Amino acid sequence: MASLSEKIVLITGGSGGLGRALASAFAAQGCRVAISARNRESLQRSADEMARNGAPVRAIACDVTQRKEVKNLADEIARHWGAVQILVNNAGMAHAVSFADMSDGLWDDTLATNLTGSYNCGKIFLPAMVQAKWGRIINIGSTTAKVGYSHVTAYTASKHGLLGLTRALALETARHGVTVNMICPGYIDDERTHENARVMAQKTGKSVDDILKLFAASAPQNRLIKPEEVASLALLMASEKLAGMTGQAINVDGGAVMA
Ligand code: NDP
Repeated sequence: MASLSEKIVLITGGSGGLGRALASAFAAQGCRVAISARNRESLQRSADEMARNGAPVRAIACDVTQRKEVKNLADEIARHWGAVQILVNNAGMAHAVSFADMSDGLWDDTLATNLTGSYNCGKIFLPAMVQAKWGRIINIGSTTAKVGYSHVTAYTASKHGLLGLTRALALETARHGVTVNMICPGYIDDERTHENARVMAQKTGKSVDDILKLFAASAPQNRLIKPEEVASLALLMASEKLAGMTGQAINVDGGAVMA
C-alpha cells in the first residue's frame, strides 16, 4: 500500500499481542511507527524485536488514562517525526468477574483505559489531523461493542461506549479528511486469550486446551482470530482505498456476531 509509506503512526498498547502485530504491519508498509504502553521494559522489548526485522519503530512509555502523558507522547513523536497521522487506539484491559463481585476500582480502571484513554488520545492527536486535512483514527473495539456478554460488564460498557465515540466523532470529522472507524475482533490467538484461558481453566477444573477450544467454538468458523488478520483490516482502513468509509465498526470474529 504505497500511500501509507512514511506515514506517522501511533499504536497505543503496542507491547501487547495485537499491538505488536499492528505495529509490525504498519512498519512493513514503510510507516514510521511509535508504540506506547505503561511498562517500559516490555515496550522496549517489543520495539527491539521489531527493529531486528528492520522496522523504524520508536517506543515511548505513556499511560493513556493520563492526558498529560498523552500530550508528552505527542510532543516526543513530533520532535522526531512530526504530527501523528494514523492513531490506533488499541490499549485496553479486560477482567472477567460477575457484576456483583466487581470492585468499583475495576469499573473505573476499565472505563478509564478502554474509553477515556481513546478520548484522551483523540483530544491530543485529532487537531493536527484536522489541520492537515488528513488523518485516520482506528479504534480497537471487540464484538462486545455490539452485543452483551456475561461477567464482563465493565469491558462491554467500555467497548459499547467506544463505538458511540467512533460514530459521533466520525460525523464531526467527515468533512476534514479524517476517518474514524472501529475494528471488532473476536477471540484473538494471543497471550491475553491464552492467559484468560489459563485463569478459566483454574476456576473450572477444565484443561487450558479445552477452554481454548470453547473460545474457538463460539465462532462459526470454529477458530481463534490471528492478530495479523486484524492488522490487515487496520491497514485497509488507514489507506486511501477505504477513504470513503467512516463511522463503521467491522467485525473480525469468524462469524460470531453479525451486527
Ligand atoms: P494485552 O493485554 O496483551 O495488551 C494490552 C496492551 O495495552 C499492552 O501493551 C498494555 O501495556 C497496554 N495498556 C493497558 N493499559 C494501558 C494504559 N492505561 N495506557 C497505555 N497502555 C495500556 O491485550 P491484547 O493485545 O489482546 O488487546 C489489545 C486490544 O484488543 C484491546 O483493546 C482489547 O480490548 C482488544 N481485543 C482483544 C481481544 C483478544 O482476544 N485478545 C479480542 C477483542 C478485542 P501496559 O500494561 O504495559 O500498559
